This record gives sequence, C-alpha cells and structure tokens, in this order.
Amino acid sequence: MSFRRGALAATMTATALVLAACGGSGDDTAAPEPEVAEAPEFEAGTTMAELAEAGTIRVGTKFDQPGFGLENLEGEVEGFDVEIAKIIAGGLGIAPEDIEWVQTPSAVREEVLEGDEVDMVVATYTINDTRKERISFAGPYYTAGQQIMVAADNDEITGPESFTDNPDATVCSVTGSTPAEQITEYLASPDQLVLFDEYSQCADSLSNGQVDAVTTDNVILLGFVSESDGEFKLVGEQFTEEPYGIGIPKGDVAFCEFIHETLRENEDAYTEAWEATAGQVEGTETPELPEFDECA
Ligand code: GLU
Repeated sequence: MSFRRGALAATMTATALVLAACGGSGDDTAAPEPEVAEAPEFEAGTTMAELAEAGTIRVGTKFDQPGFGLENLEGEVEGFDVEIAKIIAGGLGIAPEDIEWVQTPSAVREEVLEGDEVDMVVATYTINDTRKERISFAGPYYTAGQQIMVAADNDEITGPESFTDNPDATVCSVTGSTPAEQITEYLASPDQLVLFDEYSQCADSLSNGQVDAVTTDNVILLGFVSESDGEFKLVGEQFTEEPYGIGIPKGDVAFCEFIHETLRENEDAYTEAWEATAGQVEGTETPELPEFDECA
C-alpha cells in the first residue's frame, strides 16, 4: 500500500482509483462551510488589513497527513488544519476558494514564514522556544503527543524504550520535526533513526519492511493506522506534549490576537471542523478549544 497520494494518483489503474476514492479518510462527512465576514474593517497597515484588501491568503500546510492536511484525489486539501485555516481566513472576509494552499513539509515551516512565501502555517506545528526564535505562534488550538506506530504483527516494539533495548530496531521520522529530536534520547545508536521529508514516506517504509517503526504525534499516526487497513497499530503511551500553534511572522502580535479572537468566536465551527476531519479517525477524541498563550 502506498501512503503518498501524488505518486498514488499518477500510477493507479482506473479500478484502483475507484477503490481508493471509496476508502480513505472518512470524507463522507463534509466539513461545514466556515463563516466568511462581510467587508470586515481593520486598522490600516496591519496584516489583517493587507490580507483583507488582497482578498487572498497563502497558507502553508501538509499535503500527506490524513485527518490534518491531505491532498485528495481531486487535488483539494482537507483536514483539521485546513479547516482551522479556513475559519481564520473567514474572519478576514476571505472565502475558502480564495485561499492559496502551499505544501509545507516540517523542515521548511520557519523558512517559508521568514521568506514571506506564506502568510501563516497551519501544519501540526508544535509551539516551542527554538522555533519562537524565528517566528511567532498563535494558539495552541490542539495538543497532541508523540507515540510509536509499528506493523500490526510486531510484538517486540512496545514503546520508545524498545529502541534502547534493541539496537537493531529502526524508527522513521521527519527532518525538522520535534519527534525526530525527542526520540534520540531513547536510541542506543543514531543509526536507528531514519529520516524523510514527509510522514507518508515513513508509512511507506514501514509498509515495505524497510523500517520497524514510525514516530510522530499520535493523531498523525492514527490517520495512517486508519488508512492502513489493519496493517499498522500504535504501541505504548504518548510520551511528549505537542501543542499545535499557527505559525505567523515573528512579532506580529496584532495578527496573533486577531487569530485568537476569530477562533474564540467560532468555537462551534472548531468543534464541527474536528468532527468532520480528524474526529473521523478511530481513536481520536473531540477536543475543547484550549486556553491560548499570550501573543508575543
Ligand atoms: N508536531 C510535531 C512538529 O511540529 C510533529 C509533526 C510534524 O512534523 O508536523 O514537529
């Protein structure tokens, strides 16, 4: 089974295409259309005023993570992060069809904000101090936790400690991600860690038997488990906290406060967005909108 949509669409036969379109990420439940503000007014010179005036916003997100940011076979992105971005865009008076989606793998998230290639990043993006040196975060809007995914018939790996006890076991994660860093303290040797740019590549490697495990946030892994048709399972408890923030250019306090206000005003849409996306994945629980950090 391939977990990489682009490669999949390019190589599949017509029959397989039909099958894939019927299976997949529980997309029978469409997320509700977000509210789009009518001609909202903002103080001149603010990011909000500029974006509202432009009538479009560039959003960095993932294209390969079921439940959060996944490009479907029609070339549209879907998932909880996508819906969060639509709610924020709606507050700026920007309709979903006017959003420009930019595929943003983990390692380039700070870079695309610093280089003004996107206006915000909503991409399973953990808030932490290292990243805050280069960018700012609004949120958190959700808190995940790191876990381990293995093949369903693997009884040897039961949690991160298994990599300490078994120096031959390999684990895949993604360059520039917090899980890739945090797993290192459990490894007997650095060679046990295999890094790719995207988690779908790790899922493919696990499927092919090239690695023994994949590690990242529980909710990302659950998305792959649900698409795997019983091939994968999660093991052990979550062993970190990953508060997801919305990445914005460093120091844009007014934009951060606007994002907080917009999410607070749209709590119902937040819940509905979850239920139509990540909430469709078995093993996930509907979150409450968390308390936000102070904007800085
Ligand atoms: N939340 C973690 C991070 O921001 C892992 C997920 C990801 O790589 O997008 O690094």
